[in-house]
Amino acid sequence: MFMFTHDCSACDRRQLIFPSMIEGVTRTEGGTEVAFTCWCGAEQTALRGSSSTSGDRKLVAA
Ligand SMILES: [Zn+2]
Repeated sequence: MFMFTHDCSACDRRQLIFPSMIEGVTRTEGGTEVAFTCWCGAEQTALRGSSSTSGDRKLVAA
């Protein structure tokens, strides 16, 4: 398993997320979506994987 940092949208802090906090993993076209509960108690999702090009496409579309 892995751990990673996440910018929580509820407490507005960068939190270290441990594997034991992860509640679900869903594979999507853009990568792997990980569901977990932040230290503050808020349910969060984070997209992991190779999705670095999606941001560039949005800039072009805008
Ligand atoms: Zn939080």
